[in-house]
Amino acid sequence: MKPRPTKRSWAEPWKVKMVEPLRMISADERRRAIAAAGYNTFLLRSEDVYIDLLTDSGTSAMSDQQWAGMMLGDEAYAGSRNFYNLEAAIQKYYGYRYITPTHQGRGAENILSQICIKPGDYVPGNMYFTTTRHHQEAAGGTFVDVVIPEAHDPANEFPFKGNVDLEALAALIARVGAAKIPYVCVAATVNMAGGQPISMANMQAVRALTRAHGIRIFLDATRAVENAWFIQQLEPGYRDRSVASILLEFCSYSDGCTMSGKKDALVNIGGWLALNDKDLYDEASALVVVYEGLHTYGGMAGRDMEAMARGIAESVSDDHMTARIGQVQYLGEMLHDWGVPVVRPIGGHAVYLDARAFYPHIPQDQFPAQALAANLYEESGVRAMERGIVSAGRDKLTGENHHPKLELVRLTIPRRVYTQAHMDVTAESVAAVWDARASARGLRMTYEPRHLRFFQARFEPI
Ligand SMILES: *Cc1c(COP(=O)(O)O)cnc(C)c1O
Repeated sequence: MKPRPTKRSWAEPWKVKMVEPLRMISADERRRAIAAAGYNTFLLRSEDVYIDLLTDSGTSAMSDQQWAGMMLGDEAYAGSRNFYNLEAAIQKYYGYRYITPTHQGRGAENILSQICIKPGDYVPGNMYFTTTRHHQEAAGGTFVDVVIPEAHDPANEFPFKGNVDLEALAALIARVGAAKIPYVCVAATVNMAGGQPISMANMQAVRALTRAHGIRIFLDATRAVENAWFIQQLEPGYRDRSVASILLEFCSYSDGCTMSGKKDALVNIGGWLALNDKDLYDEASALVVVYEGLHTYGGMAGRDMEAMARGIAESVSDDHMTARIGQVQYLGEMLHDWGVPVVRPIGGHAVYLDARAFYPHIPQDQFPAQALAANLYEESGVRAMERGIVSAGRDKLTGENHHPKLELVRLTIPRRVYTQAHMDVTAESVAAVWDARASARGLRMTYEPRHLRFFQARFEPI
């Protein structure tokens, strides 16, 4: 008999009511599929994927309460009752005053960038995000990375690697002047750093610094609930506070947010822009009608707004967050224990493989992370995505490739979708690719789209 472990386990706070069969195609078919997709996992057919860890965006399972809400859709063009339910949920849990739905997060980013950023402005942020930076630059701004240096080191165990480097932010303000900085864009958690949280103390300090210069803060609130869970677990003084109350306090240090409801808010589509300033909201809602739809639906169906309103309330539950991030950590710690190089500490929504450590023999210009994601699919049918030089794109002025320090593959865990057994299979698949690392080869890019190239670029083996 083996000794019984002394720990007490957590379990998911739900049970399964409906299932969707998975399909695994043969190794030969997988080889053909990834070649036909130009070695880009975004171009695979979902039917050819076994376990889909491409993204946690819009891939969550909705609850019975959310599905019931779908039947209560008020599909009026204007003033749908579901809009008011959504508005009330955002006001209650995030604390912002004025809200307009958008079709998803990037819709909100477009509107915010257009109303706030003038050509020649600078927009500091705690590491870039692909669509966020695109809209800031399209509006004439220059993104400036002010995340702490620890964020660029995949092995560094600092618990709040999403923090803003206050000295770097102060130096930027001194260099270009507050008038050229329309707002600071604070992401919580920081996706591109590995789903790393920012601490409440850091957020308070950013608020104090920006207030002194009259600069606004807009949150990328996409995974702010997950960030609140990390604060509860890791930051002194927050252990007895609910995730919901931490979220509300965190948001109170900002002037509004852009939001992709497809992540924390447990829906398949939707987003919003929230603002505390009435004049700014009026400008935003004048643009929403151009790009998204009337300000009371912003590109969303009534039923989808209802599902998001209900999803927000479910997302702030402590039990939900413990199981959600617990599953991510289960996968990450297993790989770490086996000696597979992953970004430390394990983040909130994904486990990030360190492709530089996998393939030190493949130069960054031969896309080691892109190759690793393709190899993992070929090995096992598990779909992940590149977060390295392909995602980083080119400098908007010089046209040169950005060379990010982090060259990662993201295994992103959808919420309430897969079981621990799927995580076991995934870990074993990654370990098999790790064992075969010496024979891996780099890639050459054969097609490069002009914008957000990682979505549609094509490659071939060298
Ligand atoms: C997904 C995401 C966005 C963009 O949201 P979409 O709904 O995909 O348009 C913005 N910021 C972060 C951090 C994200 O993860």
